[in-house]
Amino acid sequence: LAGAREIVDDLVGDRAAEWDRSGLIPGDVLRALAARGLLCAEVPEASGGLGASSAANGEFTAYVGSRCSSLRSVMTSQGMAAWTIQRLGNPRQHAEYLPELAAGRLAAVAFSEPEAGSDLSAMSTTIEPDGDTVVVRGQKVWTTAAHYADMIVVVGRYGSGAAAVVVPASAPGVTVTRVPRPSGCRAAGHADVRLDGVRLPAGAVLGGGQPLMLLVTTALAYGRMSVAWGCVGILRACLDAARQHARTRRQFGKPLAQHQLVGRHLANLLTGEQIATRMCEHASRCWDSGSPDMVVASVLAKQVSAVQAAQGAAAAVQILGSAAAHEGHVVERAYRDAKLMELIEGSTEICQLILSDHAMSMPA
Ligand code: FAD
Repeated sequence: LAGAREIVDDLVGDRAAEWDRSGLIPGDVLRALAARGLLCAEVPEASGGLGASSAANGEFTAYVGSRCSSLRSVMTSQGMAAWTIQRLGNPRQHAEYLPELAAGRLAAVAFSEPEAGSDLSAMSTTIEPDGDTVVVRGQKVWTTAAHYADMIVVVGRYGSGAAAVVVPASAPGVTVTRVPRPSGCRAAGHADVRLDGVRLPAGAVLGGGQPLMLLVTTALAYGRMSVAWGCVGILRACLDAARQHARTRRQFGKPLAQHQLVGRHLANLLTGEQIATRMCEHASRCWDSGSPDMVVASVLAKQVSAVQAAQGAAAAVQILGSAAAHEGHVVERAYRDAKLMELIEGSTEICQLILSDHAMSMPA
């Protein structure tokens, strides 16, 4: 990923606040990053990708997250789509889809439905075989990046199990409707996706017949890693802004940093950033070594990083006071963006339930 940060600096510049206000990342920015393979950098070189390790891509994800959580969210969706295809697809599907994703086509992943949020087992979207085609029917909600996507990886019921299916956004029967004015990650292109009898070749089905929750866990594992590293980026951006402000803003005759109660906020922010970083590094090591602990490590990393990011962003707002009370300020955006990270990819409570089950399954 040599030179990747410079490319991001060049393309993002100081425009993240403007994108947050307008709710749009310019298409040329997304295409420029996607065409270099940077939105899904872990796609193997053999499939036309950059073949980055989870650790290297994680640090890059944190960097993007420190600049713009909306862009990082689009990156999470692209990476999760690629990972789902890599894990569930056959060699023909790898050869068809992965080089496209590494070369600039944009993708989103749709699980959630009006009645299936935390409880994805309530999913009702169907993928029905019909000769050498399949027909997809259902309603997805809150699909990150769907507004920008060329293809949407849709998860649904398939026979007695489940499958994912690669749906071109332009296919007849697909309707993409933007979520109006999201509270955070406002330029991430969240949209609801209606699928009215969308007919596709049977070759678009990935992993047909797997148990639904196994399939969901596979896809979400990547999303959790990416969100966790993105939260590290939020913490780093907040720490930088808070440090700079506490050094220069003077009240009661001295810099804010020299007031002990402000120092406590700074210490907590640093602690949060370090804890989140260590959890993400551990999870990426598990990921890169193919450890069986990988899934639990990704849940732990997401859980810890999202909670720390929400708390750290709130502390940063407190340190900056009215200086951060402007729409679009880096810390104000972080505060809104971080809270959403506690809801997605398994909310804080759902991650806690998974971790509690894991704790109970450990040998005495
Ligand atoms: P609910 O499931 O209704 O939960 C509401 C609250 O109840 C939460 O706090 C939850 O933790 C708690 N709760 C629920 N069940 C339990 C339980 N058993 N025990 C304890 N507490 C519980 N979906 C996609 O498919 N693709 C995407 O790209 C995507 N991107 C998103 C981006 C954003 C910014 C947001 C806000 C959502 C996105 N979603 C996406 C949807 C997201 O996955 C869901 O919002 C999430 O799964 C939670 O579902 P819900 O909002 O319906 O909340």
